[in-house]
Parts: sequence; structure tokens; C-alpha cells
Amino acid sequence: MTKVIDWLKHNRKLMFSLEITPPDRGKNMDDILSGIDPLMRFEPQFINVTYHQPHMVYDEKDGVITRRPRRKKPGTVGICSAIKNRFRVEPVPHLICGSFSRYETEDTLIDLHFLGIKNILALRGDPPPGQARFIPEKDGHLYACQLVEQIAQLNRGKYIDELEDPFPTSFCIGVAGYPEKHFESPNLDKDLLYLKKKVDAGAEYIITQMFYDFRIYKEFVEKARAVGIQVPIIPGLKPLVSRKQIQSIPSSFHVNIPAELVGLIEEARTREQAFAGGVRFMARLVEKLLEFGVPGIHVFTMGQGRAPQALLEAVFAAKG
Ligand code: FAD
Repeated sequence: MTKVIDWLKHNRKLMFSLEITPPDRGKNMDDILSGIDPLMRFEPQFINVTYHQPHMVYDEKDGVITRRPRRKKPGTVGICSAIKNRFRVEPVPHLICGSFSRYETEDTLIDLHFLGIKNILALRGDPPPGQARFIPEKDGHLYACQLVEQIAQLNRGKYIDELEDPFPTSFCIGVAGYPEKHFESPNLDKDLLYLKKKVDAGAEYIITQMFYDFRIYKEFVEKARAVGIQVPIIPGLKPLVSRKQIQSIPSSFHVNIPAELVGLIEEARTREQAFAGGVRFMARLVEKLLEFGVPGIHVFTMGQGRAPQALLEAVFAAKG
């Protein structure tokens, strides 16, 4: 089954997907792919590949400063193709609004369609480092719901320009959801209304931002259902296994870390103890999610092979 939604609808097995990030410009793609090699024995059905906006670089010559955009992590589409060839697993490229005009989006969608890619996670993208707020490209999208709409239109054979006998694409569209609300949103209720807009525009499932408290996910799903969002909501999970992450995860992703997990990590005498405590905590969280009946789990690896591997070992050992 090549589409996420088909797997979710027709397969009784829990869906399991991984998320990876392309290497920095100039680095080898093999390092990233070998990093997930040990995770392949857990048989992910999908591997997501993130997309990154360029940030601005400033050059000075003869007292004149010029700005040029520079993408630190190019290669999303190429890695997707490599994943298909190397692992025979369906890739899910992320596509963002940032840095794309609508025509560039259309061109990328055509590339992906020609590569036989059937899934896209449609996102707005974060403002690049050093930029306080998101600024769309001229003639680009301001919100992810507009990108979803464009992909859905292409699935109906509607291109930006009127074309003679246009072929329709056939993408399954996923979007992001935020159990603790998106950081720019005034409150969760408002955020959920915008999430519903993405679903109404054609998103067929949601992957959540990471969270560390089961109740937060459960309440999010209940509130989403209450506002009429009926699509599957897949929990996104990022193992937290070190002191450094206690600071970096909340500041980068705007999520809360429960006191119990902070205590486990801070009170550990060694790094290994902290790692083991973090993995045990995450495995219990996954257990609760499975009991609740989640449609799948999505693990953010972000180049971090060891922690996801330990988590998956704990989860799959418990499941038998
Ligand atoms: P939107 O859904 O557009 O929401 C952005 C903000 O605008 C929210 O505050 C929302 O409430 C508000 N909003 C939405 N629609 C409207 C509207 N119609 N009117 C007014 N306000 C509105 N980032 C990357 O750069 N690359 C990636 O590959 C990537 N992958 C991710 C994967 C997952 C699973 C998740 C959860 C996030 C990912 N992100 C990625 C981060 C994401 O791009 C950022 O969180 C971004 O700031 C918001 O993206 P979005 O698609 O949720 O945006």
C-alpha cells in the first residue's frame, strides 16, 4: 500500500513511520541513510523527509552588503528517491510554503508525481533562523491550508494555468497538528479551527508535534473530534534522553516537559542512566497511546539513531 491513508484504512497492523532530515549542504547522504539502517528491522511503512527554508547570508564587498538566500539542507526530493531504491519503503517528502511561489510548488509537485511519490506532508515551515515571523514568497502561500488546497486542486487536474487535457496527480496529503497549540496561535481552540481548515481543504490525516504527556494527546484528539476533525491523528514522538534536550526541546518546539521526566533525567548519575530513564518513560508513553488505540506512531529521528532504536526495541519487545 503506497498511500498513508490506504494503510490507515485497510491495514489492521499499527502504522509506523520515521522522520529524517537531509544532511547539511556538502555532506554525504549515505551518513543519514546508514543512520536509519538499524531502524529498518522494525519495518517502518513510511519514511518522512523534512524540507528546509533557506536562511539569509550577508556578504560584504567594497563596503556594500548584499543578501543571498542559502539553503543549508537541500536534497529532500533526491533522498526520497534514494529511500525508495535502497529500502523499498514509501518516502513522504515534506513540502513547505516558505521560499516557494505557487508555480515553484506546482513544478515540485510535478517532479514528485513523475518520481512515483504518492504522499506529501504539507506544511507552512518555520521562519528561518534570525527572522521573527514567517514571510511568504511573492505569489507563495501564507498558510499550510493554501498549500493543501493547491495539492488537492492538482489531484483534480487543476493547474494554476488553464491547460488542455491536464493529468491529475494522486497525492495523499498529511498535515501537522499541535496538541499544545502552535506557538503563534493565541489558544488551542483557534489553532484547531485552522487545523480543520487544512482538513476541509483536503488533508487526509494529521501528524502531531511531539508531546510528553499522554493526557495532552488524548485531550487534543477529543477536542479535534468535537470541532469536526474526523481524520486519523498520528502521534509524533521524539525520545528525550539527555539533560541538553530538557532545554533544547521546549525552546525549539514549544512543548512542555512533565516534571517526572525532567526529574528522571536530572537525577540520573550518569548519561547512560539518563538515557535509560528517558527511554523507559517514552516506552510507557507509547504503551498508553497503544492502549488508547492510536492509528500509528511517527518517530522523529533528527539524525539521532540510538535513542529511537532503544525506544523501538522497548516498544516492540513489549508488544511481542
Ligand atoms: P499552519 O497550519 O499554516 O499554521 C501556522 C500558524 O498560522 C498557526 O499559528 C495557525 O494557528 C495559524 N493559521 C493557520 N491557518 C490560518 C489562517 N487561515 N488564518 C490565520 N491563521 C492561521 N518545518 C519545516 O520547515 N520543515 C519541515 O519539514 C517540517 N516538518 C514538520 C513535521 C511535523 C510533524 C510538524 C508537527 C512540524 C513540522 N515543521 C516543519 C514545523 C512547521 O513547519 C512549523 O511548526 C510552522 O511554524 C507551522 O507549520 P504548519 O504547517 O502547522 O502551519
